[in-house]
Amino acid sequence: MSATERPHISLVIPVFNERDVLPLLLEAIGAFRTSRPERISVLFVDDGSRDGSAALIREESGSLKDISVVSLSRNFGHQIAVTAGLNLCDADAAIVMDADLQDPLDVAGSMIDRWKEGADVVYGKRIDREEVSFLERLTAGWYYRFFRSFTGLDAPLDTGDFRLVSRKVMEAFRELNEQQPYVRGLISWLGFKQEAVEYVRPGRAAGKTKYPWRRRLDLALDGLASFSGKPLRFAMRLGLLISAGSFMGLVWVLLTKYVFQTAITGWASLIFAAFFFGGVQLFFLGVIGSYLARVYDEVKGRPRYVVGSTWRSDPDSHP
Ligand code: UDP
Ligand code: MG
Repeated sequence: MSATERPHISLVIPVFNERDVLPLLLEAIGAFRTSRPERISVLFVDDGSRDGSAALIREESGSLKDISVVSLSRNFGHQIAVTAGLNLCDADAAIVMDADLQDPLDVAGSMIDRWKEGADVVYGKRIDREEVSFLERLTAGWYYRFFRSFTGLDAPLDTGDFRLVSRKVMEAFRELNEQQPYVRGLISWLGFKQEAVEYVRPGRAAGKTKYPWRRRLDLALDGLASFSGKPLRFAMRLGLLISAGSFMGLVWVLLTKYVFQTAITGWASLIFAAFFFGGVQLFFLGVIGSYLARVYDEVKGRPRYVVGSTWRSDPDSHP
């Protein structure tokens, strides 16, 4: 950014089948832009939407300037879409936000103010969430706390992907070529000057969540696996413990037979022990396997996303 130019901030918005909410979003962005002194552009990353979301954005924003749509060639998933957006963004700062207006634009405004005061990363910290089930709130709350103690990463609590990142952070992020990026963790890992703005997270403005429980769980496990190898060490420790325990069991069995001369009955329990340890073994084989699968993905080194097409609104038209 040169001294004479207005700072340029880009809203990076992943979109997957968001037809229902897009008109509301574009309207809100229009109002936000006129309220801000900075140049605000929008980079939509269409993550393989099948409901014509990209076409809708093109139609509705034909007369708005500074809007781009990068359409990925298929659905690659939210984290990859965000990664693509951050890699393609050419602004002085980027704000990653949901398409569904769950990440309020006035909070984005506070993020910009903090950035102007010198912060490199400004993340949105949820102090409360509307329209979220008790169970979801509880599990998410626990997860962030567990994640921190488990990985030892200084990651903020109750924080999703809603955050502003400066140019410097975007450049550093670009160097991280992980196949399965856990974006919020990686940005914490990068360091720099990170600050929080607190907000109450509203419910979705329209449409349905694109994160069913299964995908949520995958994201949670991805986060843990990408920042810690502890499960592997835990498998080893548990194995040692069980071996030591069974050795003592063996001593006890020999003692009862040769010293106390009592016959041991009830060996039906044996089959349950066999099943139990079979289960434990399979479980940890799965844990090891999932790390191996991550290694396999890294080794293949495929591009993480493929851009299908790019569209830009007329740069000379009016806001
Ligand atoms: N999203 C995406 N690709 C996907 C799933 C979701 O780009 O495969 C986008 C979605 O359009 C939204 C954001 O990621 O802008 C977050 O999804 P959503 O709001 O459904 O998640 P939630 O807020 O319910 O956790
Ligand atoms: Mg959402």
